[in-house]
Amino acid sequence: MDVVIIGGGIQGLVALDALVEKGYSCALVSDGDLGSGQTLHSHGYLNTGFGMYGPELPRASSEVVQPYLEGRGLELSQDWVVIPPPGMPLFDGLPTASLPGGFAMPPGLKALRLPDRSVPKRRLVEVLSESHRDRMLRGHATLHRTGARVDAVSVRIAGDDVVLSTRAVVVAAGCGSKRLLQGLVGQTPQTEQIKHRRVHMICVRAPRGSLPTTSMMLAAHDQPDNVTWYVTPMEMGGPWSDDVPDDAAAEVDHERVARGFATLLALYPRLPEVDGLEIGCYAGYRQDVGDMPANRMCELVAGTDNVIVALPSGLVGPWLNAVTLGEIVGGLIEPSGSQPALPGAGLGVQAGDVVEDRPEFSWMGWDQWSKKYLQLSAQRLPTSPAS
Ligand SMILES: Cc1cc2nc3c(=O)[nH]c(=O)nc-3n(C[C@H](O)[C@H](O)[C@H](O)COP(=O)(O)OP(=O)(O)OC[C@H]3O[C@@H](n4cnc5c(N)ncnc54)[C@H](O)[C@@H]3O)c2cc1C
Repeated sequence: MDVVIIGGGIQGLVALDALVEKGYSCALVSDGDLGSGQTLHSHGYLNTGFGMYGPELPRASSEVVQPYLEGRGLELSQDWVVIPPPGMPLFDGLPTASLPGGFAMPPGLKALRLPDRSVPKRRLVEVLSESHRDRMLRGHATLHRTGARVDAVSVRIAGDDVVLSTRAVVVAAGCGSKRLLQGLVGQTPQTEQIKHRRVHMICVRAPRGSLPTTSMMLAAHDQPDNVTWYVTPMEMGGPWSDDVPDDAAAEVDHERVARGFATLLALYPRLPEVDGLEIGCYAGYRQDVGDMPANRMCELVAGTDNVIVALPSGLVGPWLNAVTLGEIVGGLIEPSGSQPALPGAGLGVQAGDVVEDRPEFSWMGWDQWSKKYLQLSAQRLPTSPAS
């Protein structure tokens, strides 16, 4: 192969599409269902950091990512509304917006409209992968190194080891990347840049028409039968974890969920009255680069001649990384222009379920949920819901 890509999340899938398009012979290896890492843990909104981290992500989202996805038949939805803390000049220039019905506007603040869009998560993975299944192998990738080069990647498929000899490797293994790179080059300043943070999601679902579909610091997905809100209690900072599972699943901190839910209830006090309401929660690890949530990494791995690491920070970054990746790979090798058949390709390869469709996730009705989380917040939390 010219290039073997490790990881079947959004970054690996976008990289595969871009490199195949440039004429490189490629294989993608992923050890779970496609997207089963952070990609299908996400809220599924094209987060540009609310413009707080400069113009690059908003421009990439509106000029590259949105047309790319719409061109492949994905329906993007939502107007986004943000209520910034007072005196934040970064939000200057955004048009004002009114809040959707049922929301309680916090006194002294105003709502602004954002250009971000939401995307159906599982469909995103299906659309990115459907024309490349014959390039994908399902299994755990093991790298084989000779000196400064990784010249083969092996995968165990149906009891046999398939060995792909390759000229370059792209590590797009999300939360598995740090462990994989440390196994290859040890602890380096570059691997130290990769960090993992735990993020909680509160999922709120009700029959279509019962909840507003405009998003307000939470993602709202308007599905055929229902609207689902994804609410993230803000968790900037906090401890970083090194040892995280490759599929990004994390233990839930119920007190954090209770605090986040109390805030949601203050903003949307009509929630308990909604008929057919269902609520659940989960947590996931996300990989970040350095200390800023918007940083991404796409570079040659120090200590190797032909391994490139591609880590986005959010669902927009993969397209920016794919441009850099094309340049780095182009500097290393010429495309061979062929796509040799791969033994075991496509076997067991499928898009994963979004977390709230998985058997281990449980939806609760209002009575069950409020008994657990409102009591928890009343007992243990020192602050009022509005704070
Ligand atoms: C709870 C949560 C909510 C989020 N919400 C948003 C959001 O709304 N908007 C946004 O823009 N961003 C969001 N993010 C961040 C976003 O989801 C990630 O930045 C993005 O999905 C990362 O994609 P990826 O392809 O790099 O990694 P992943 O999606 O994690 O994919 C990596 C894949 O590599 C595989 N893998 C790992 N090691 C190996 C190996 N050795 N061999 C083979 N395969 C391997 C894993 O199984 C995994 O499927 C969220 C993240 C989390 C955790």
